[in-house]
This record gives sequence, structure tokens and C-alpha cells, in this order.
Amino acid sequence: MPIQGAANHRLNSVVEEGADAGFNVSQRSMAFCRRHFPEATIAQWNDWKWQLRNRLKDLKTLERVFELSPSEHAAVRELGDALPVGITPYYASLMDPKDPQDPIRRTMIPVTNEFVKSPVEADDPLSEDHDMVVPGLVHRYPDRVLFLVTNFCATYCRYCTRARLVGKTGEYHFNFKQYEAAIEYLKAHTEVRDVLLSGGDPLTMADDRIEWLLSRLRAIPHIQFIRLGSKVPAVLPQRITPELCAMLRKYHPFWLSIHFMHPAEVTPEVHQACGRLADAGVPLGSQTVLTRDVNDSVDTMKSLMHKLLMARVRPYYIYQCDPISGSGHFRTPVETGLKIIEGLRGHTTGYAVPQYVIDAPGGGGKIPLVPEYYQGREGDFVVLRNFEGKTYRYPDPV
Ligand SMILES: *Cc1c(COP(=O)(O)O)cnc(C)c1O
Repeated sequence: MPIQGAANHRLNSVVEEGADAGFNVSQRSMAFCRRHFPEATIAQWNDWKWQLRNRLKDLKTLERVFELSPSEHAAVRELGDALPVGITPYYASLMDPKDPQDPIRRTMIPVTNEFVKSPVEADDPLSEDHDMVVPGLVHRYPDRVLFLVTNFCATYCRYCTRARLVGKTGEYHFNFKQYEAAIEYLKAHTEVRDVLLSGGDPLTMADDRIEWLLSRLRAIPHIQFIRLGSKVPAVLPQRITPELCAMLRKYHPFWLSIHFMHPAEVTPEVHQACGRLADAGVPLGSQTVLTRDVNDSVDTMKSLMHKLLMARVRPYYIYQCDPISGSGHFRTPVETGLKIIEGLRGHTTGYAVPQYVIDAPGGGGKIPLVPEYYQGREGDFVVLRNFEGKTYRYPDPV
């Protein structure tokens, strides 16, 4: 598609406008915008609501942007009422339009393997519905709850643990009546000191809706720690406006866990979004799902963790991919995860080493998996192995 003179001119002239609005646009995204949204201004590109309105959702739009493989083409055509496709133009601009093996693209565009359901897989492998004390509120651990506040996401990950409930029925938001019931439960349960807001992606909601929830939670004296889980800073960094940050900082201590998958996600835009949050005093953690041919190597994970540290995000969890229906092509042997942790620990700073966990099927919660460094006891010594595989005897009289 040729770049039209007029559109080109308009874009060049709004680069400064974009700079005034205080948001980076990388060269790659700029080229994508020119090519696929020639009418858009940089101000529009930088507007998170424009990004959501212009998500790539249907076969026609996807075909315009990507050279779809036969498997991708068939899968999108036959999705029916399964997890929909939704990709923000910004996030699409990070993917290789010609290569179906592009790691980020693999996480967003379905293939027909998604329709292959193995007997070990389930729609709700973590039995979250079983632990739901009121609709949307999962109370599994003694002192903390998972509060699902929306079923809408900016983009839909093909390996989503909550594919059963996100993106469905017109992508409606959970309602206030349901929030009120959850808040009543939390008021009555003084053992809950920690609330994790998730969904869906809570940062796709309007500022005043998020603030309504945060202020209600902060009004409950025994709730100390409020967290939010989101992929928005990675896939829709434009959402992280100064207004949002100014609002969030009123509810400290407020922490954010960001879903990151691949080093290519850590763009100048993402740096800026994370920097704004960090400057607002929000401690940032990351959560990564270990997935085959996306991030299942030491090199890729190490590069991701290093880039996250530079963006002021502290790696928190690597999850074994949950046995969600149709996820066989994404899952890796558990040994792959252990090898990745071994390849990080000691070889780089401990700040770059997340905890590798399996969320136990049936609602057992997150179980940490750690390579074995303790080799046993020899009388008054314990035998330890270091990161290079050398053994050391540590005096530890019984
Ligand atoms: C992951 C999770 C939490 C939070 O666990 P942390 O280890 O504290 O991050 C809480 N409730 C449920 C149901 C979860 O799956």
C-alpha cells in the first residue's frame, strides 16, 4: 500500500502534537499506523480509546494486516463463540505480518490446534468457579482474594486461563450490583487483608469506575494491600495517562502486576507507561506464562527479565501454562521451566529471577518449583550445589 502524500504530511505534522501530549511513538508503530490507518493522527494513535475502538477483530481486518497461514485463516473463520480475537493496533504493530511463527503473533492469532482438546485439559482447570464465594470473588487462600471486575480485555491471549468467561456476551462489564455483593463479603471477612483486582483487564475500565472500586476497598479497615493484574501497560501503554496515575496514587499502597510475554514487548511506549506508574509510586511486578516457541528458552526469558528491570518492573512469577482447553500447542514440559530458572539464578541478578509456579489443577493454588540446590546431608555438613554445578559443603552441626 503506497503512503499517500497528504496522509504522510498530516502524520509528520502531528508528531509534535504527539510529543506535546507526552507520549513516544516508535518508528515501527508509526510506519504501521501510516500504512493501515492513513487517516489517523498521532493524537488518535496515542488515544487509548481510539486503540480499543480500532482493534483487529475479524477475518477481513486481520487479512488486511497479516499474511495469514491456512491454519490461522481457518481458526479465525471457525472461532464461533470461543474466545474472540482482539488485538490493539499498537500491539499488532509489534508483530511480523508475514511470519506466523512470530512469537507475539502466536499468542494473539488462533490456529486450528486451539480446537484440539485433550482429556487432561479443562475449561476451568483451576476450579475458580468452585472457589467463588460470590460471583466474581475467588477466595482460595486464607488472607487474600481474587476479585474479577470485568470480562473485557484489550487483547485476548490464546492461552487465557479465563477463556471461559472473558470476551463473551458482547464483552459486557460486570455490574455494580455484583461489586456491591463482593464488597459486602469483604467487609464481613476480616481475615482478608489483600485484594487482587483482575478479570478481564481492570485497566480497560474508565478511571471513575476503577476509582469507585479502589475507594470502596480502601474504606474497609482490614484491607491493607490492593493489587491489580493487567496486560494493558504491555498492549495498550497509551492507557497509562497522567490522570490515571494521579488517581491511582491516592490509594496507596497500590501495586500492579503486569502480564509480559516477550522482550519485543518492552518498547519505548512501554518504558514510558511503566515509568509513569513507577513515578506515581506504584511498585510494578511482572507475570509471564511459559509458552512453547514464544518464550521457552533461557535467552529469551533472560532478555525479557533484563528489559523489565530497565523499565522498573520486578519479575514476579513465571507460570506453567495452565491446561486450559486447546492449549496443548503452547504447553512445555515442567523441566523446561526448571531449566530456565537454573539458567537465570546466579547467572544474573536475583532481581531478574521470578518464581516459577504451577497453579494446581482443582484449586490447590500456586505451587513453587525450584531447581534442587540442596544435595543432602553428610554428618555435620549439608551438601549444596551452586549455579555452576560445583558442590560445596556447608558446616551445619546437628
Ligand atoms: C494468584 C492468586 C492470588 C494471589 O496470589 P499471590 O501469590 O499472593 O500473588 C490470590 N487468589 C487466587 C485465587 C489466585 O489465583
